[in-house]
Amino acid sequence: MRPTFRTLPIAVIGGGFSGMMAAEQLLRALPPDRAVVLCERGHPFGLGLAYSTPNPDHLLNLRATQMSADPEQPGAFSDWLVRAELDPTERLGLRETEAGTFASRGLYGRYLSERWTRLAEAAGDRLVADRAAIVDVEPVPEGFVLHGEGVSPRRVAGLVLAMGNLPGPAITPSRHRLDPWRPEAFGALYPGRDVLVVGTGLTMMDSVAALRREGFAGRVVAVSRRGLLPKPHAAVPVGRRPDFSPEIRFTPEIRASARRLFAAVRREVAAAREAGADWRGVIDALRPITDSLWTGLPRAEQARILRHVRPYWDVHRHRTAPPAAEAIADEIRRGSLVVRAARILAIDDAPDRALVTIRPRGTDDRERIEAQGILDATGFSRLAETGDPLIRNLLARGLVRPGPFGLGIAAGPDGRVAGQPTDAPVWAFGPMLRGVIWECIAVPDIRDAARPLARAVADRLGDRLAA
Ligand SMILES: Cc1cc2nc3c(=O)[nH]c(=O)nc-3n(C[C@H](O)[C@H](O)[C@H](O)COP(=O)(O)OP(=O)(O)OC[C@H]3O[C@@H](n4cnc5c(N)ncnc54)[C@H](O)[C@@H]3O)c2cc1C
Repeated sequence: MRPTFRTLPIAVIGGGFSGMMAAEQLLRALPPDRAVVLCERGHPFGLGLAYSTPNPDHLLNLRATQMSADPEQPGAFSDWLVRAELDPTERLGLRETEAGTFASRGLYGRYLSERWTRLAEAAGDRLVADRAAIVDVEPVPEGFVLHGEGVSPRRVAGLVLAMGNLPGPAITPSRHRLDPWRPEAFGALYPGRDVLVVGTGLTMMDSVAALRREGFAGRVVAVSRRGLLPKPHAAVPVGRRPDFSPEIRFTPEIRASARRLFAAVRREVAAAREAGADWRGVIDALRPITDSLWTGLPRAEQARILRHVRPYWDVHRHRTAPPAAEAIADEIRRGSLVVRAARILAIDDAPDRALVTIRPRGTDDRERIEAQGILDATGFSRLAETGDPLIRNLLARGLVRPGPFGLGIAAGPDGRVAGQPTDAPVWAFGPMLRGVIWECIAVPDIRDAARPLARAVADRLGDRLAA
């Protein structure tokens, strides 16, 4: 009989897009007698938080042509949209624009669900879909035992942590706080009183769309330190500037300094403008080298990038669908959305509202916002700040530690989690690697990274067998 380790499954914790991509590639890379267990606590398998929304105004922020889940067929999602029979409600989520086709995240979720069904059917017993919230992982000789709420403990040979963006307490607790992902509560808001959204990025845009869909007609005030809004995709494809080769232009001297890098990118954008080209072409052309630019910077320079450059980079790099940008611009024009560049100094609760003190950017003034509800749209939290029970237990056991600058999980370039007491086979995948890999958040990044991850896992388990 074969040793137990050989036949124990690999567990993927988190059944969102990252988890499904990891499971799919692991099934290919691992020997046929090694099963994959995908653990998901709440959302439909394959969809995760991002693609479970039914709101047709929650649009994908990439064109349909960029959203294939299939590394071998780049046009798979666009083709699916052409073939799919959409009911009238689903059709609302399909927007043809001059900048290309943008679909709702709900439609994308349906595409992923169908992919999940095919994957599960093809894999048979080798893919175990476990509807479980994993709360702890116990290291045992040759593997781990997963402990979940309401499920029996399960032994596995290794782990892939794919829990997505970590929720966390980014703002002061308030009893008037509303969850951006639970729009059911928005229907009870009074139209005559303000709602505050903390953050002015893509999640703020989603929050405004959700408030409106649930019938809230009142004013929304959105606050972030710089008040920057995501830029829309260009109306026409931008292409690259023909003579722009970032590998050549970013000399080692430039690559060693945040300030020089920022200045170099600005120079390229100015040159693009002068040549009649769009700035987006420069940002897109940087994509293949952003990871190496990031990892090549000294620590102190990385810190400067996070502090001073990242907010600007994010709004230019993670662009939004033009119809979503137009809806926000229209709200601002009508005064139903007010965007403020300010720091939140305090949130005090009164019985029926929160009293929020802000300091507008560049001033020493104090202002008061009275809000009947507060939505935290700041995105994600640092690893050590999250209240997630699994993360807390993994940290306590020393199985993971925070990544650089507290972002995500510390790991090697292949995603294998760093700093463990043993060489335990644990990997992090997707947005959990955001401190280590710059481009690990969007669908194309995750899709293309799944195969190397699966190979790394297979190699590692092979090492263990040989040992
Ligand atoms: C609102 C939103 C919109 C986005 N839109 C786009 C877009 O248009 N295009 C694009 O390319 N990218 C987009 N992204 C980026 C997104 O990060 C990726 O596309 C991708 O969805 C990330 O998937 P994930 O599985 O890593 O994370 P998630 O979607 O967050 O999924 C993680 C899953 O893990 C589960 N989980 C967590 N902890 C446990 C546990 N202890 N036990 C069991 N299950 C657990 C959660 O329930 C969740 O379902 C968006 C992200 C968000 C948040």
